[in-house]
Amino acid sequence: MQYWDDHLDLLIRASTPMIWIRSGEEERVEVLLESAATRLSPRRLASWDYIQGLKGILNAKGLGTRQPMAVLEWIQNLDSSNPTILLLKDFHRFCEDPGIARMLRNLSGHLRQQPHTIVLCSALWTPPSDLEDALTILDLPLPQEPELRVLLENISQASGSSLENDVLEELTHACTGLSEARVRQVAARALAQRGKLGIEDLSEVLAEKRQTVARSEVLEYCETQATPADIGGLDALKKWLDQRHQAFSDEARSFGLPLPRGVLLIGPQGTGKSLTAKVIAHSWSMPLLRLDVGRLFAGLVGASEARTRETIQRAEAMAPCVLWIDEIDKGFGGDARSDGGTSQRVLANVLTWMAEKTSAVFVVATANGVERLPGELLRKGRFDEIFLLDLPTDNERFSILKLHIQQRRPNINLPLSSVVDRTVGFSGAELEQTVIEGMHFAFAERRELQESDLILAASQLVPLSRTAKEQLTSLKQWSSTGRARPASIQIN
Ligand code: ATP
Repeated sequence: MQYWDDHLDLLIRASTPMIWIRSGEEERVEVLLESAATRLSPRRLASWDYIQGLKGILNAKGLGTRQPMAVLEWIQNLDSSNPTILLLKDFHRFCEDPGIARMLRNLSGHLRQQPHTIVLCSALWTPPSDLEDALTILDLPLPQEPELRVLLENISQASGSSLENDVLEELTHACTGLSEARVRQVAARALAQRGKLGIEDLSEVLAEKRQTVARSEVLEYCETQATPADIGGLDALKKWLDQRHQAFSDEARSFGLPLPRGVLLIGPQGTGKSLTAKVIAHSWSMPLLRLDVGRLFAGLVGASEARTRETIQRAEAMAPCVLWIDEIDKGFGGDARSDGGTSQRVLANVLTWMAEKTSAVFVVATANGVERLPGELLRKGRFDEIFLLDLPTDNERFSILKLHIQQRRPNINLPLSSVVDRTVGFSGAELEQTVIEGMHFAFAERRELQESDLILAASQLVPLSRTAKEQLTSLKQWSSTGRARPASIQIN
């Protein structure tokens, strides 16, 4: 945090009138400002909130209770012999008021000549556009390992016990990505149960992380048991994934390999993109976080960017993990004119993060088509690889049918060549549907499933490839120019 502290000090010394610290960790921000005030003595820290008014200033204690304008007038009239950092809590809620917004803008000019700095603290906020220029943004990262180590040590010592070095290391590592308040909560629960911190708390920490994801509006924690054996075909993709998995090891790091970034899976509906995302997470023993792109963009204009930041923070908190951006084409295909450029800005944030990330977050993005995908996303280097999941070949249809029959009727062995011939153009999902439908026919007559049931079921299903022919042709044309790799091994 040394870098962050230095940056804050610099802003304060440079008479920055208003700093917006982008963080939901108000208590931690207050402690950090307290230390900054000490470092920058004779500056002092004052804080204000709606209920208690001013705090920390002897002669003005309680001033401005329930009066946001009064505290702004106070700092405006404060003379320069008392250099002050003023933390205004929840103040973003008052900034919609035209009087307050005007006063803040006036102050931003006035405070440039004064040794006072106003600090606002909020994670989710879209400032009114006329205030944007007056605010200097400072992002507060979640506590880093050294900070967490000290925090855990302090908590443990305060409870009268000390942590073994290796336990401290493991707990510290597990806590990365949690806010200080959350770490304190986990610790408080552990102390209440056993009177001390210990290795037993690791599972609690992981559960807390899962909860953090669950509280998110746009991220969903997916439980999955899917293994590569559940995927029929897609052999080229499976082979590639196996290689990438090995690249997460320490051995790969010392070999000089970078951490894998992610993969983009493009293909028509029901070709196994979601299934692949689940298989990656489960077979790599990583949690799977599904990002709902629709929800990222829902609601207030501007909120999407804040949600994106928060989502990225939460995903990093869970690292190593798989971040599955489902239907990425639905969100980022937005028209800049219709959404005020929001989708472009969010996309830019995501791309920058993907390019710079050092955490073990493997991104699996899925899309049905490329027409609505922005070019930046498809450019080489964004993802480690782009795969086209086409409709299954003859051999693949055979494997998929066999697999779905085996999952449900493990003891039968049917000839499948006729049904394979009659399901040209069927997707994996449609083949699964064929098996289920065929089983209904057999079950209605209380007999074993036969190939003829499957043939009948297939004849009653109109595959999507027949109705969405044009879309499929253009997708194939696009990928044939070498922009995507086939997920299936091609047999000529
Ligand atoms: P969408 O674009 O509609 O989200 P998708 O490509 O993500 O579709 P999935 O949701 O993965 O498709 O597929 C639906 C179901 O179809 C899977 O849960 C699985 O049961 C079956 N399926 C699809 N492809 C395969 C495959 N290659 N092998 C085995 N089963 C498959």
